[in-house]
Amino acid sequence: MKSVQNGEHFFCAYCRSYFFPTESDDGVKVWGAVSNVACPVDKVPLVTASISKIDVLHCTTCRGLLIKQPLFRAIVEYRRAISPALDRPPRPWKPHDEKRQLQCPTCERSMDNHLYYGPGTVMIDTCAHCGVIWLDHGELSNMVNAPGRDRGRLLGDAEDTLWEEQGALPPRNLFMRH
Ligand SMILES: [Zn+2]
Ligand SMILES: [Zn+2]
Repeated sequence: MKSVQNGEHFFCAYCRSYFFPTESDDGVKVWGAVSNVACPVDKVPLVTASISKIDVLHCTTCRGLLIKQPLFRAIVEYRRAISPALDRPPRPWKPHDEKRQLQCPTCERSMDNHLYYGPGTVMIDTCAHCGVIWLDHGELSNMVNAPGRDRGRLLGDAEDTLWEEQGALPPRNLFMRH
């Protein structure tokens, strides 16, 4: 499928039809093009997806997310700002999260496992070498729904306007496709 590059839908030149991905609770739109990056948890190929027009990679099996580090903070801040949901007290992380040792899906070095400093109580896996973050399913919504006065402050505004106000249009295609 070929993307029409407006962040909302794909146009498939072969079957000449449009494809509108639906958004998950975490705000993830799955586009489904298979990447050459494997899930660090279950090793199936990650597929293309986006969150508020930022490209990420997604595992359709465990529903984890691979995000470029410079964009991660922007995603959390933005999703909190547009979140209509009620605050949800942070959940404690599961004990196995601390012991798990993932290999970075792009360079195969060991990833660092540490507590995220921002909202929520989440253990994240990062690779400083590649500048990527791995989020297990539910971790993003844990961060987005953690209590704070910044939540919902941009509710009702158009996504594009917001990105422009922040001084940057959402970057695209940050994952290299070899
Ligand atoms: Zn997976
Ligand atoms: Zn790496």
